Amino acid sequence: MGQIRVLPDSVVNQIAAGEVVERPAAVVKELVENALDAGASQIAVTLKEGGRELISVLDNGRGMDEADAGLAVQRHATSKIASAAELTRIATLGFRGEALASIAAVSRFELVTCADELAGGLCLALEGGRAAPPTRQGFPRGTRVTCGELFFNTPARRKFLRSAATEFQYAQGVLAQLALAHPQVHFRIQHNGRPVASWPGAASLGERVLQVFGPELHEGLAEVRGAEGLLAFEGLVSLPSHARSSRRWQYLVLNGRPIRSAGLNHAVYHAYRTLLMKDRHPAFILHLSLHPEEVDVNVHPAKSEVRLRNPQWAHTVLADKLHKSLLEAGRRQALGERAGAADGYGEWTGPARQVADSSAPNPSGDPLSSTAFIPRVLASPGAPAPIFEGPAAISGTEGTACEAAFGPVAGAVSGAMRPASAAAGGARAGWLAAAGAAQAGECGDGEAAAFHFQPLARGVLPPGAGGQETLALPHNVHVLSQLHTAYILAQRDGALVVIDQHAAHERILFEQYRTQFLAGSLKTERFLVPPTFELSAQNGVLLEQYLPQWKKLGFELESFGRNGFLVREAPALLAGRDLKALILEVLDELALFGKSGRLEEVVNEILERVACHAAIRAGMTLSRPEMEALVAQLEQLEINLYCPHGRPVWIEVGERELEKRFKRIV
Ligand code: ADP
Ligand code: MG
Repeated sequence: MGQIRVLPDSVVNQIAAGEVVERPAAVVKELVENALDAGASQIAVTLKEGGRELISVLDNGRGMDEADAGLAVQRHATSKIASAAELTRIATLGFRGEALASIAAVSRFELVTCADELAGGLCLALEGGRAAPPTRQGFPRGTRVTCGELFFNTPARRKFLRSAATEFQYAQGVLAQLALAHPQVHFRIQHNGRPVASWPGAASLGERVLQVFGPELHEGLAEVRGAEGLLAFEGLVSLPSHARSSRRWQYLVLNGRPIRSAGLNHAVYHAYRTLLMKDRHPAFILHLSLHPEEVDVNVHPAKSEVRLRNPQWAHTVLADKLHKSLLEAGRRQALGERAGAADGYGEWTGPARQVADSSAPNPSGDPLSSTAFIPRVLASPGAPAPIFEGPAAISGTEGTACEAAFGPVAGAVSGAMRPASAAAGGARAGWLAAAGAAQAGECGDGEAAAFHFQPLARGVLPPGAGGQETLALPHNVHVLSQLHTAYILAQRDGALVVIDQHAAHERILFEQYRTQFLAGSLKTERFLVPPTFELSAQNGVLLEQYLPQWKKLGFELESFGRNGFLVREAPALLAGRDLKALILEVLDELALFGKSGRLEEVVNEILERVACHAAIRAGMTLSRPEMEALVAQLEQLEINLYCPHGRPVWIEVGERELEKRFKRIV
């Protein structure tokens, strides 16, 4: 009895702090979000010992007057929403009204802010949540929040902090995310008294990516954009030929908020479909814009996860539109246009404009007018005063501190955060890489079987291929000759086209085979005398496990004896090929990745291998009619710029490029 009591505010705030500020990086995130919400165009972040000793965020946003400053540090005090109804259409990064109170509860906290330079600035100091009387001081319009000795009054939590270097890495990660989400804002980062990065307001997302990650990543990225209904996206994604070996470079930004979303990530992968090699991952920095009423951000105290009202719809739209945009980007790459991304965006506005332009109906049947929606976070903040440019910008006692923190740092950035240097080397790099890949990438099995190139019937292409939506090799390619018995040289308008014969045929067969498979009209060949082969016990089990999939793909296999198999039927396009070698290759792959048993992957694996085995190889002399038949079929495909493994099928050297190289023009 009498054991329940209402906890005092100080304890409540500490408990809340546990959710909101897990580590210094979380403090950085909350403070920078506040600065962005306040419309800042310049944000300076200062850390000591990875943020364990000090975190300070200075901005040139709208600042606060005395009354607001007092309220800001109280729990559940916010200017961003006024009612529960507004929770359903949040256009700011913050809305919970607990970050400042939480941070103040577990640190030596100071807030200096000024909304009107004539009225002057105000300084509020709190220690472990307890406030000293406010003092006045000179300060330019804007705000600086300082969080000293995080968790000084909760030693158990302080012990959980990692080393300064590790904490700094977390903070850098958060800053990179926010900087990519807001390319137009100037960020400066200082650590232990040294300038670490300066990313001036960028005119495009590409420029920001160059600033934050350097040219190496930037080079393999292509611009994509698309919109449908209330969803729009714009950003940079890996060209299939430049996919990475890790998932490290994947950034999603929804309405100006960096988010994690397994569903949307999956949609991006889906957009690549058969364009990615196994174990390769696209890099992407994608800005999505969705009407705020379609998004619930009130899911997680750190606001990094969101729930979508129509996740399935968003998935479909993103996957489809991105797929098209990607094929278009691939076409530009093949045509030797810039693969780099710094140009072409013009003034960075994010994808909002496209939503506003879109007249497509609202998917949820909501009567909302899509034209009314422009996310606030992407709108221009209305010319705040600069905090970086020259001493004049910062008056009073605080001026010197800020200046000292951000002296002349341009260019003084660490190796990991290199500044923009030369723009991506575009076409030429692509040309060489493509040529190299085509040579190295042959998936030959050494089989010396006779070359059976049957000119393939044209009737098997999917409806729509070659139609309006075709983002493929343009028509009117005229074959000139064969080079190194590996490439077809051709001409299109004034340009020289080089086609990798194996990759091209592989793509053709893959599409045909897949179309036949999907339509249930696979052409197979039945053997009068079924070939047989023996497998190891392990492979035997593996093959047995997926017999129904093999059957659907045209392989009727039957086991006999202990680990013997016979082939009763096989896809017609494999006529004359070594079936055992093909099956062994698929099994090798399945042994590596197929344990999860995802049937889609098993099917794709078989499709790819069959296409590879059936395709003509480098080293085959082709007659002119054969080359013409190959090119004609390639031209009809909707996807023909990459082989099923993601390597380029063809490259083009434009007339201008030739003229430049021969110095006919400069
Ligand atoms: P929230 O951001 O969820 O509203 P916070 O505790 O982070 O909650 O901030 C409380 C309020 O303080 C904000 O709603 C905003 O009005 C004000 N505020 C905080 N930081 C700044 C800043 N850098 N510039 C101007 N106002 C700020
Ligand atoms: Mg906030």
